[in-house]
Amino acid sequence: MTTVLVVEDEPQLLRALQINLRTHGYHPVIAVDGASALSAASEHRPDLVLLDLGLPDMDGVQVIAGLRAWTQVPIIVLSARHGPEDKVEALDAGADDYVTKPFGLEELLARLRAAERRSAAAPGTPVVTTGDFRLDLAGRKAERRGEQVRLTPTEWRLVELLVRNPGQLVTQQKLLLEVWGPAYAREVQYLRVYLNQLRRKLEPDPARPRYFITESGMGYRFEP
Ligand code: CA
Repeated sequence: MTTVLVVEDEPQLLRALQINLRTHGYHPVIAVDGASALSAASEHRPDLVLLDLGLPDMDGVQVIAGLRAWTQVPIIVLSARHGPEDKVEALDAGADDYVTKPFGLEELLARLRAAERRSAAAPGTPVVTTGDFRLDLAGRKAERRGEQVRLTPTEWRLVELLVRNPGQLVTQQKLLLEVWGPAYAREVQYLRVYLNQLRRKLEPDPARPRYFITESGMGYRFEP
């Protein structure tokens, strides 16, 4: 079932959204302000987010930025504001779509379905091949020079995040948040331990990494 995080401080609208989403087969999780939206997102890992921009404790754009620090979940903004600059600001911050209040239920459902389709069809990197190893991300199969290598689920999440951003620095914060969750945001030593394991399994010379490069004090980078 598709979990939708609904962030809305107007009780009537929130209630209507909850009922209608349930009726249409979604599993709604609700939050009435920005802070609880951010914690609900990390706790429930929703498949979609419906986000009101005018929240009592913070601007919805800040919520978008907070989510985008660690997740690519589709975000559809609900807003009573009409100015094009609000829309641009929300989209620039990382929202996927924008629905202006008042909106019809059919329109909202259509936007939800569209966001689901886009997210299902998101460009993947199912197989990554280097001179030394091959990772089949969809099939969860790893090989080094033709020999099967077993990676743990945590190692898969970590390696996937790195290889999906080839040549780019992936920060310690992002890795910890996405692989272990917000409660582990400071556990930098986890990264050292797990990166060493990955290198032992995949690198030709784990002591001199060729593929999984440490950017000292900042994060890690996959060099294909
Ligand atoms: Ca509001």
